[in-house]
Amino acid sequence: MTKIIPIMAGVGHCYLVIHVSGFFLVDTGSPGHFQSIARRIHSHGLDLRNLQFIFLTHTHYDHAGNAFLLQEASGAPIIVHESESGMLKQGTHAVPNGTNLVFKIISFLGQRFSKSHASFKAANPDIVFQTAYSAKDLGAEALIVHTPGHTLGSSSLIFEGNLFAGDSLFNVAGMVWPPFANDEARLIETWKYFDTLPITTCYPAHGKRMGKEVFTKALKKRRQKGRVKLNRAKLRGHSHGRLPTDLEM
Ligand SMILES: [Zn+2]
Repeated sequence: MTKIIPIMAGVGHCYLVIHVSGFFLVDTGSPGHFQSIARRIHSHGLDLRNLQFIFLTHTHYDHAGNAFLLQEASGAPIIVHESESGMLKQGTHAVPNGTNLVFKIISFLGQRFSKSHASFKAANPDIVFQTAYSAKDLGAEALIVHTPGHTLGSSSLIFEGNLFAGDSLFNVAGMVWPPFANDEARLIETWKYFDTLPITTCYPAHGKRMGKEVFTKALKKRRQKGRVKLNRAKLRGHSHGRLPTDLEM
């Protein structure tokens, strides 16, 4: 029976997924949490050296913070979208744009006055992909898909009806739409894609897991209120039509 263990590592969760054929990690938390993540893995009777892979939903510091140390200790490959690989190698990223007034101000101040962007120990990605990647060869029937919007290379992992969406959705104080997103028009396309998936549970990096119906309700609300103005010309060519929805790999 599959176990999904949220590990609080800084301001958000990373997830340890233990399944019948092994175990893998989704994200690695903020810098400084390597020991606590390693301890949690050991506490389940697992040897870190058997870690199948480390999937990074994107390379913000609170997701990629311990990627290097976990890669070094386990020998497991790091999987990340190709457009995020440069930031992973540099160990730094730009402050993302806010999606509401408060977070727009926070983002503005961060972008203008913070000379050092949030940084973390740089790591080398082992597997990069563009549209989708199947982790079957690594021993897990997991599908990784490019789901941009929060950042250009944001991606999600689908496994046994569970969606690990990184920061593409939140579940904090009733807020599901992320407070930060570099491209909200692409994010709404990502949300529409999520809605087509045969999943039952969503696992955000920030906040607790939620049933798909909670997400679907948030999507409906988002569309009804028309908060996102779709720029059709801009979206042309960025459709998710080519992505698999039946999870057959
Ligand atoms: Zn993020």
